[in-house]
Amino acid sequence: MNKHTNWYLLIVVVLLLPSLVNAQLDSDYNQLFNYHSWHNTPVITISGPPDIIFPVQGIVNFGDDFGDGRSGGRLHEGNDLIAPKMTPIVAARGGRIVSASTTEPSYGYMISIAGDDGYKYNYLHINNDTPGTDDGQGGLQYAYAPGINQGVTVVQGQHIAWVGDSGNAEATVSHLHFEIRLADDTAIDPYQYLNAALEIYTYSISAVKDASPTINSDKGLIINPNSTPYCVAGSLIRIPSISSVYYCGADGKRYVFPNVQTYATWYQDFSTVEIITPEDMSKIMLGGNVTYRPGVKLVKIQTDSRVYAVDRNGTLRLMITPEIADKYYGTNWNKNVEDVPDAFFTNYKIGNSITN
Ligand SMILES: [Zn+2]
Repeated sequence: MNKHTNWYLLIVVVLLLPSLVNAQLDSDYNQLFNYHSWHNTPVITISGPPDIIFPVQGIVNFGDDFGDGRSGGRLHEGNDLIAPKMTPIVAARGGRIVSASTTEPSYGYMISIAGDDGYKYNYLHINNDTPGTDDGQGGLQYAYAPGINQGVTVVQGQHIAWVGDSGNAEATVSHLHFEIRLADDTAIDPYQYLNAALEIYTYSISAVKDASPTINSDKGLIINPNSTPYCVAGSLIRIPSISSVYYCGADGKRYVFPNVQTYATWYQDFSTVEIITPEDMSKIMLGGNVTYRPGVKLVKIQTDSRVYAVDRNGTLRLMITPEIADKYYGTNWNKNVEDVPDAFFTNYKIGNSITN
């Protein structure tokens, strides 16, 4: 659909519903979002996390200030990206501009985009000053990029506006207040998506440990109701003559510990290992190898000096510098590194490097 068609439809709708439009255009911030919902076309079903590019071009300072308290008991429903006035703002995600205020409401010049991924992206406190001043007289020409109007479709990365301090940001430092909302207007914290856009990837020992209390949870194994299990899910088993220990997965398959180091990240000793007959063991299908429990050890491959932290389901994440290893595992981090034999390295996959 080209922009002429969009405008045509918009005009028809405006003609049909003049009282509703007038009422809503005068409305406050929250009602403005309700106003969006009736002319959003079509509704796109969200199919994954927001995949965005960073919306401010240039030097930016920001933190995870989502949910912080604000005046009047409000909560902060976005992240503030602090940058000099007139820094270009680009569309974090392509989509249709459902609102670009032409007057300056209490929250300042703002653009709201219905993303082509089903999320809504809001950009607030867009510039209202004549460049080089704080006169509040810049008007639309210093707020929005040329051609940016309600109803226009933009592509990801397109220049849409300039950073400023309009509306209730007048007394604070210039910044873009950036929001991501679900279709029902529930705000979600943009922080991790902004970090991903900057390729800032962090790690949390406690979070990865908590996410993997058992091998079943680490591997995401679930019970298959159509199969008869020959071992108790979550138990440890072996046969009398051979020392190899297996983990009985919830899927009814057995997973072998490739070495004692891997075993030691999951269990303190062998006291709970049950001995079963070779005949029973042969009935249990082999599922694969157990990998290191996330968050316990750092690993490397024998033939390579790079050191990785372990994330869920055998995902290895390169620690890009010794300082990063230091940050997460302390100054003695190198005492926590274990070698994974080359033969077992294929049980692992490589995830995002830890960059911060
Ligand atoms: Zn803000």
